[in-house]
Amino acid sequence: RHVLDAEFFRRWMLATAAVVDREAARLTELDSAIGDADHGANLQRGFTAVRAALEAEPPQTPGAVLVLAGRQLISKVGGASGPLYGTLLRGTGKALGDDAEVTDAALRAALDEGVGAVAKLGGAAPGDKTMLDALVPAVAALGDGDYGAARAAAEKGAEDTVPLQARKGRASYLGERSIGHRDPGATSSALLVGALAETAEA
Ligand code: ADP
Ligand code: MG
Ligand code: MG
Repeated sequence: RHVLDAEFFRRWMLATAAVVDREAARLTELDSAIGDADHGANLQRGFTAVRAALEAEPPQTPGAVLVLAGRQLISKVGGASGPLYGTLLRGTGKALGDDAEVTDAALRAALDEGVGAVAKLGGAAPGDKTMLDALVPAVAALGDGDYGAARAAAEKGAEDTVPLQARKGRASYLGERSIGHRDPGATSSALLVGALAETAEA
């Protein structure tokens, strides 16, 4: 059991910003193989704005932290991933409501809503070689607060995108040439879930 208050969610977002900074070059390199070589820069710009917004006006509830972060990603990132990650965080935050503390079960249910909103916005399903290939198995593995299992499932989901052919987003333009490369968005989604696990373990 974890105490999931506004501070927990703030730390999750700051841990994500930190790992995006560390891994930006790798994310951009993955995107250079099957995209336009900007995924690391896109997320770095987005999470730098998230960090600044959280410092400027620290939100008082878990839901408000994620809604604020989601809005920053939607407004500051031009690429496909900004609106998609923004929708994930905003949708999850809205589903958490106004409670000052939420349970592990409430977070799992809210993440399920957020991931559903991403699928609806982007029209993708697992197997299409997108961020959903990491997010969907992560939420399924989360159970009642097993953040380590969620991280492992997200990492496996990202690795398992290698043999897939992309059916959504820019990589789909490559057709069969998208096979054999790891999806950048699934990789960054695994970082987001890893940051959640790191925060829960701290
Ligand atoms: P862009 O493709 O606009 O340059 P990014 O490089 O930042 O945007 O993000 C690319 C990632 O976005 C992909 O690796 C993929 O995981 C994700 N993505 C693209 N289109 C979709 C979609 N329709 N649904 C879910 N995820 C998607
Ligand atoms: Mg790109
Ligand atoms: Mg782009």
